[in-house]
Amino acid sequence: RVGRGQGRRVVQYDELTTQKRSPTLDVEHALRRALENQEFHLVYQPQMDLRFGRIVGVEALLRWKHPERGLVSPVEFIPVLEESGMIDAVGAWVIDEACSQARHWELAGTPLRVGINLSPQQFLDPRLFDTIVGTAERRGVSPKRVELEITESLAMQDPTRAIELLTRLRGLGYKIAIDDFGIGYSSLEYLLRFPIDTIKVDRAFVRNITNSQADRAIVGAITVIARTLGINTIAEGIETMRQCDFVEALGIGEIQGYLIGKPMSPREIEHLIVSFRRPGREPEQ
Ligand code: C2E
Ligand code: MG
Ligand code: MG
Ligand code: MG
Repeated sequence: RVGRGQGRRVVQYDELTTQKRSPTLDVEHALRRALENQEFHLVYQPQMDLRFGRIVGVEALLRWKHPERGLVSPVEFIPVLEESGMIDAVGAWVIDEACSQARHWELAGTPLRVGINLSPQQFLDPRLFDTIVGTAERRGVSPKRVELEITESLAMQDPTRAIELLTRLRGLGYKIAIDDFGIGYSSLEYLLRFPIDTIKVDRAFVRNITNSQADRAIVGAITVIARTLGINTIAEGIETMRQCDFVEALGIGEIQGYLIGKPMSPREIEHLIVSFRRPGREPEQ
């Protein structure tokens, strides 16, 4: 008869030798070392204000450069970080790095609002509030430069707790954005109950905006409600000048997408803001 500990070891050995080991386990193993090996970095995607044609913010996006596999998409590895519980540690690193960069831009005289994505798993961590506030204070960045992006599903999994946490953060001056808006379970009630500053309209509604009356109606309705409630709107995934014209006509406040710039390094952001000209318009004389 085999003891409990021995039994477990046999199962693992068996899995390894019969090649049943899932690719996810390899990724998980590699991710465990990625933080200490400094394989993560952030890229920043610019956001342009449509009224003034200026870059007013950026979104921080996580990148993982695997030593052999090269750049891995966050769509692939963020679910693994979440399932394995590693998202708290990596998420804390993202917050620190983004706050440090935001402070750098403040000191350089080119302050930018920096959007930070929070995953549902991070939200369950009772230390999240202290992590955010502690990090921003240590880095010396003003809370108003930090925009926390949360998704609908995240807010819906425990709305009471989410509202309480977001209200406390907002009370200190942090900005709150609802990411990928419109593709989840959001409703008007949802909008009215959450303490938010910004709605990021999902790329799904922008993609066909030039020929879909339904998508135009949805985006138009969102902007009307947002304006009434004093909420800023950002259209995601704007790739063409025509898409830009359409969302501008519908009353969207800011755009983010390849038309303005792909996610890029901090240095590239600095070059962009110095030379920036709103696309499709002649510079004023
Ligand atoms: P998201 O927060 O909705 O980020 C926007 C995604 O759309 C980014 O993909 C960006 O590169 C892409 N995108 C931006 N403009 C365009 C465009 O004009 N056309 C097209 N086709 N795509 C565009 P990315 O960087 O691959 O990130 C994917 C998702 O991974 C993000 O979606 C976000 O949910 C998640 N993510 C990224 N970084 C982090 C992070 O630090 N923490 C967490 N929890 N999630 C993150
Ligand atoms: Mg986002
Ligand atoms: Mg988004
Ligand atoms: Mg999206």
